[in-house]
Amino acid sequence: MDEIIGHADVLRELRGLANAPDPVHALLLAGPGGTGRTLLALQYARLLNCEGRSGGGAIEEPCGQCRSCRLIGEGAHPDVITLGPGDTLCKPRPNESGHERHPQSRDIRICQVRGLIELVARYPFEARYRMIIIDPADRLGREAANTLLKTLEEPPGHTVIALVTEAPDSLIETIVSRCRRIDVRPVPRTEIEAALVRRGIEPGLASEVARECHGRPGRALDYARSPDLMGDRARLLERCRKIAAAKTSERFTYAGELAERFRRDRVPVQAELNAWEAFWEEQLQQAARREEADIAGIVEALRAIVLVRADLMAQVMARPAFELMLLSFPTLTLGEPVEEELATHA
Ligand SMILES: [Zn+2]
Ligand SMILES: [Zn+2]
Repeated sequence: MDEIIGHADVLRELRGLANAPDPVHALLLAGPGGTGRTLLALQYARLLNCEGRSGGGAIEEPCGQCRSCRLIGEGAHPDVITLGPGDTLCKPRPNESGHERHPQSRDIRICQVRGLIELVARYPFEARYRMIIIDPADRLGREAANTLLKTLEEPPGHTVIALVTEAPDSLIETIVSRCRRIDVRPVPRTEIEAALVRRGIEPGLASEVARECHGRPGRALDYARSPDLMGDRARLLERCRKIAAAKTSERFTYAGELAERFRRDRVPVQAELNAWEAFWEEQLQQAARREEADIAGIVEALRAIVLVRADLMAQVMARPAFELMLLSFPTLTLGEPVEEELATHA
């Protein structure tokens, strides 16, 4: 597993939690995508399971060499499970004969939570602590979230549940209150730049990538691999800003264009959806610091992007899907800073 870029404070906290006599069993990792939330959850799993801590001793760092560390690093540990929208762990009720699989579903359903509960009742295959990562946790429906409560409160001793989300405010309070919340913040530019150089990335590129990734090491690594993604991104973000401030009629025109381009070539449209996601995530970060901000509207916008992706995968008609997405976006007032404020992460 790659070195985690930044987050020294979170790593220290995780080490403390893992070394406690009774490690924390429910974590909430809240922060923007690409900052390293999942890697941090996996780091906690490695700390808890590393064979280097045999004899119940405390651990500073996972060794990275033992079977447990290696399997987790390779994403191949049988006791590390990610639960997201789709049908992983789907477990219909015994009398629910018409329950069809739902690989394309947009939310995390109660049947999946039922599967999770059944799973945690069993011993892990080989881990001391099984890790279940629920990502994104804000896709848990209300009923599913309520079903999860009891397990979150008293998970069996051999299970840790990590909820990952960029919209912690949209989780129900009873879920949040049962978790140890850890805020995963954007990583300072200099740290990302230094980490990229350590990985052998040419310093000029590392500097540019670190500036463009807005505190998200995951994105930085993508840019370092394919620098073309960057130039486009600034242009796409600028267009997002214009469309977000535009009248409904202009949004409809844009939705039509998107649908037309999607028909010709899907890939650039996916990049555009990524830009929209980045745009609203950045709005969300700024909104957290502004009192009058429409946080619910922004969360709704992010959700609309997830939905449109699912719709496009499910071969739904593209144009109405894009229109619905554009209508779900709140309207920004022109002139709101998008890029300047982000410079504060630098
Ligand atoms: Zn190890
Ligand atoms: Zn199901």
